[in-house]
Amino acid sequence: MTAYEDAIAGLQKLLSEKSGLGEVAAAKVKQLTAELEATDESAFDPVQRIRTGFEHFKKENYDKNPSLYEQLAKGQSPKFLVFACSDSRVCPSHVLNFQPGEAFMVRNIASMVPPYDRKKYSGMGAAIEYAVLHLKVENILVIGHSCCGGIKGLMSIPEDGTTSSDFIEEWVNICKTAKAKVRTECSNMDFSEQCNHLEKEAVNVSLGNLLTYPFVRDAVVKKTLSLKGGHYDFVKGSFELWNLDCNVSPCVSV
Ligand SMILES: [Zn+2]
Repeated sequence: MTAYEDAIAGLQKLLSEKSGLGEVAAAKVKQLTAELEATDESAFDPVQRIRTGFEHFKKENYDKNPSLYEQLAKGQSPKFLVFACSDSRVCPSHVLNFQPGEAFMVRNIASMVPPYDRKKYSGMGAAIEYAVLHLKVENILVIGHSCCGGIKGLMSIPEDGTTSSDFIEEWVNICKTAKAKVRTECSNMDFSEQCNHLEKEAVNVSLGNLLTYPFVRDAVVKKTLSLKGGHYDFVKGSFELWNLDCNVSPCVSV
């Protein structure tokens, strides 16, 4: 008999002899399980992950670029405002190699830009206003991506418009006009191909929505700001980029 089996057998014997011990034993076993989990090296430790992540960044990036961080301590003047999806696979700092100070970023479900609405979408509006009026970014880039859950969600909202989530469907419905376009123009395609088209069409709706912000419109007219659409495909490993084209985008009247 191994020491482990011996110990278990001993515990079982004790429990069968003393009926009142069950609850006490259960609590002790629970405590032991928690302790063993904590000592298991393969168990994920979020604090340790954060610590080693920062240590790596500090050693390999921060400490090696003192002049960059000295400059960033004084302020930021990014050339880009980037809208990207919250999806963990599509961080623009990785995909486009943006360094600290290069891109002011907004990440949300399906990287959507809502139309100008001071009550409903003030968080998005504040970010756009700050980037355009205060940081004076020269480019706004909206990036869609392959296998986007938010886009699948939009594509899956029933025709009658009934929703079953507190926030998600209401949010992705920002790009419902793109969905209507895809439903009409890509009716012969299967669901995943339709989603792929919608990933790009939704970007065009967002570019159009950007023009509903007066300060964006003014800067675009003055040519101090340009609007760009992008699509990152992590299945193929490719990135498409296009400029705002009012012929294909549902532009508002300027
Ligand atoms: Zn996404």
